[in-house]
Amino acid sequence: MTSSPAKGAEFAELSVLTGMAHARLDGGSMDCGSGLLLLLTRRIRDVPPGQSLLVRTQDATVPADLLDWTRLAGHELLAQTDRDPSGAWHVLVRRGTSRDAPHATRSPATAAPFTSGEATPVGHRLWLYTNFHCNLSCGYCCAQSSPSVAPRELPVELAAGVMQEFDGLGGEEVFLTGGEPFLHPRLGDLVAEVGRRTPVTILTNAMVMERGSRRAQLEAMDRDRVRLQISLDSAQPQLHDQQRGAGSHARAVRGIRSALELGFRVRIAATWYDDQPDEGERWQALLDEWAIPAADRLVRPVARQGFAEAGQPVTVDTLAPEPTVTVDGIWWHPVAVSDPAMRVSDHPMPLEAALDTIREAVAVQDAARREGRRHVFRCA
Ligand code: SF4
Repeated sequence: MTSSPAKGAEFAELSVLTGMAHARLDGGSMDCGSGLLLLLTRRIRDVPPGQSLLVRTQDATVPADLLDWTRLAGHELLAQTDRDPSGAWHVLVRRGTSRDAPHATRSPATAAPFTSGEATPVGHRLWLYTNFHCNLSCGYCCAQSSPSVAPRELPVELAAGVMQEFDGLGGEEVFLTGGEPFLHPRLGDLVAEVGRRTPVTILTNAMVMERGSRRAQLEAMDRDRVRLQISLDSAQPQLHDQQRGAGSHARAVRGIRSALELGFRVRIAATWYDDQPDEGERWQALLDEWAIPAADRLVRPVARQGFAEAGQPVTVDTLAPEPTVTVDGIWWHPVAVSDPAMRVSDHPMPLEAALDTIREAVAVQDAARREGRRHVFRCA
């Protein structure tokens, strides 16, 4: 069966294209909107200018999308094959001659409010996953955390290296998340290392920081450099507990009160499947009692990632990037660290190359939007 040719592409035998290719990429059934864009951006950065990348795809939209991607990204689509008996097309792309990464930023109007509610230029904000294990196992956890998962702790020495590089690149703020960061045995050292260079926000469920060595680590933290972002989904215990587990509301409230008593700036974050106007009013009233300023109240939608079987779907097309470092890689965004299509690097360092990969992908997305494409590389 013969496919519709991508406009401008020459057809050739696979053996001919293979002979011309410097590198290969198997995109499987991914389309550009669901993650192939990021994979292409990563892989072509390893190809010398003027050399070619052979892309295999089983998605019928990809050959035509690659024609637009190569034009917008400054590369050239040289040729493609017909669909072969395995159901795949092969497309040969020659890398453009400029190696300069475009320094693009996403318009704040397109940012999805999963984290802080506002978009920042790529490179200003960094997320660090301190660990992946958690005392809870919430039904919507995007990181697939629970008491039984591998901790995947971020070593303090690795965090120090990442922070040195981030600081040198002009980084301005860091968010620590997990898992539950207070389960990291050296969280105090980690926070001190990060806080030496930028202000730091710790995301926590506030349930395990009140006793013993964790309490001591909390008390030792610099109130001028460290802010706590505490999850509280509802003013009503049963609504909070139905996602997070029995008794979790009461312990979170105790944690919030003691963080405030200790003099921390506290931000409260709720995660909801849908708009909940009535519940929202009760939640706001409770935060009024605690004198939490409006700027420190955050309501986020559930992302359909990790454990969440419902919620807002996210892709590199719809999610403004917030670079995120884990012990085993760098990711597009902290809500997407369980999604292989959102991985930017297989290593936590160097940071600069990963930030440039993200900037290149965003620059192409921005250029596509300027041409009027709503979903950057979806033809449908
Ligand atoms: S959502 Fe937060 S508190 Fe719940 S399991 Fe995940 S990391 Fe833990």
